[in-house]
Amino acid sequence: MATISDNLQAVRARIEGAARDAGRDPRSVSLLAVSKTHPAGAIQEAFAAGQPAFGENYVQEALEKMAALGRLQIEWHMIGPLQSNKTKQVAGRFGWVHTLDRERIARRLSEQRPAGLLPLNALIQVNVSGESSKSGVSAIDAIALAQVVARLPGLRLRGLMAIPEPTDDMALQRAQFGVVREVFEGLCADGLPLDTLSMGMSDDLEAAIAEGSTLVRVGTAIFGKRQRVRDAA
Ligand SMILES: *Cc1c(COP(=O)(O)O)cnc(C)c1O
Repeated sequence: MATISDNLQAVRARIEGAARDAGRDPRSVSLLAVSKTHPAGAIQEAFAAGQPAFGENYVQEALEKMAALGRLQIEWHMIGPLQSNKTKQVAGRFGWVHTLDRERIARRLSEQRPAGLLPLNALIQVNVSGESSKSGVSAIDAIALAQVVARLPGLRLRGLMAIPEPTDDMALQRAQFGVVREVFEGLCADGLPLDTLSMGMSDDLEAAIAEGSTLVRVGTAIFGKRQRVRDAA
């Protein structure tokens, strides 16, 4: 059976291949290992195999793993929906948040970011799957929200994130990622200093990299199938 270390190598090879195919430097694409529902031991194994950044979807689950792995220099990314009663923990414990879609939550995170820490790296989630998802803002609203977030002292706006409609059709995958890339390029042209496009998962990372992704979020291809889905805690 393939180990987590084997899987990481295979995912890195996919990233490199996709970057080369797109005429991009493979080092311009980072890997976020999505560890939701997987135990702290799996994270430890991936960390030992050279993977420093992990994404979690549920705050309570993440806090438990952070407590178990406190001695490791892990970069924690919050990639699940943000609830206003959990912003304090997100602001206090994570290095990144990928799922900003409301000004009110962004303001709370900024206010609650501890003074001793660098600003929380923030991505605005763009909804490119229309009706099928309630998370994320429209491409138009992302532009207005970005201008607000860019001015909050406790946050550092780094770019955009998207979770497109799942499809096996690579042209459709690329079309959805391409919408996000266009919004990103528009914001950069407006003078915002953005450097991060969080797009691509186990099944569509090649299309995402072809459309300019700089950060792919991969769970299943590294850790295997998720055993259970936890209640959003
Ligand atoms: C679970 C999850 C992923 C990883 O998905 P895989 O298909 O397992 O690679 C990526 N991004 C987000 C936001 C997720 O919730």
